[in-house]
Amino acid sequence: AHAHLTGELHLRHGLPHLCDRLMIEQSERILSGLAIVMKALSVRRAIVAIEDNKPQAIAKMRQAVSQMKFPGEVSVSVVPRRYPMGAEKTLIKTILDVEVPEGGLPMDVGALVHNVATLAAIHDAVVLGKPLVERVVSVTGLVKTPKNFLVRFGTPASTLIDLCGGSDECADELIFGGPMMGIAQPSFDAAIIKGTNCVLVKKSDVREEYDCVRCGRCIEACPMGLMPLQFVNLVKHEDYEHLSDYHINNCVECGSCTYGCPANIPLVSYIKVGKAELRKLGVK
Ligand code: SF4
Ligand code: SF4
Repeated sequence: AHAHLTGELHLRHGLPHLCDRLMIEQSERILSGLAIVMKALSVRRAIVAIEDNKPQAIAKMRQAVSQMKFPGEVSVSVVPRRYPMGAEKTLIKTILDVEVPEGGLPMDVGALVHNVATLAAIHDAVVLGKPLVERVVSVTGLVKTPKNFLVRFGTPASTLIDLCGGSDECADELIFGGPMMGIAQPSFDAAIIKGTNCVLVKKSDVREEYDCVRCGRCIEACPMGLMPLQFVNLVKHEDYEHLSDYHINNCVECGSCTYGCPANIPLVSYIKVGKAELRKLGVK
């Protein structure tokens, strides 16, 4: 599966606060995981990418890198804080100045992107023999005291919210993930799973959807240079075949287009439907 890997490894961070703390407090654990991945996949060069608003994490990781031995070259690269820098395609373009082909994977350009938490988990599995049974979760939004927890998988989100002093009375929606790319949960008792980096408690904001006014804001906002309004048009007309003409599979689902749309069109929801229908047609 890794036959195309030519030796680049990129380490990314997701939610700022969480991974910031992990890098400051557990840099050796992260870098131990990095060394294991480099050895296992014969990676010659790894770049630890950290956004420029995290000076403590940058200093800590640079110090730790200089003190450890790796099976290849490892450096720390500072990238601008710009959403969605955590998306692997954006990160690869920023650091290597190469584009992952549409429908392709980072390994198609000889790269592999890992989150710092993943590398820490690899260290735990290989060095300590500890399976992945818990993760750090940030609980934020309409809770009394936002906190980070080390949480066993299967723990209900409501337990964490109680440990934060409870939620505001008006809070009626629970999101797993960040405000732009997170997924709404059916209940406050939804269980924490390995992909749950953040529990966001909020008040639902149901807005009426209007017709597109062709203002072009979604095009300006798209970091991938796409035309999001075309995806909506095609999906509404069930014309899925032509979605690939507009490179829908290059969409990283960052939500920037939806965020600025004055017509309240949930563009990412349409895009997700479009991608799923395209997959059914066998188009990657
Ligand atoms: S931002 Fe919304 S209203 Fe404006 S062109 Fe895009 S989809 Fe249409
Ligand atoms: S979600 Fe919207 S803004 Fe983000 S990459 Fe996809 S089309 Fe572009």
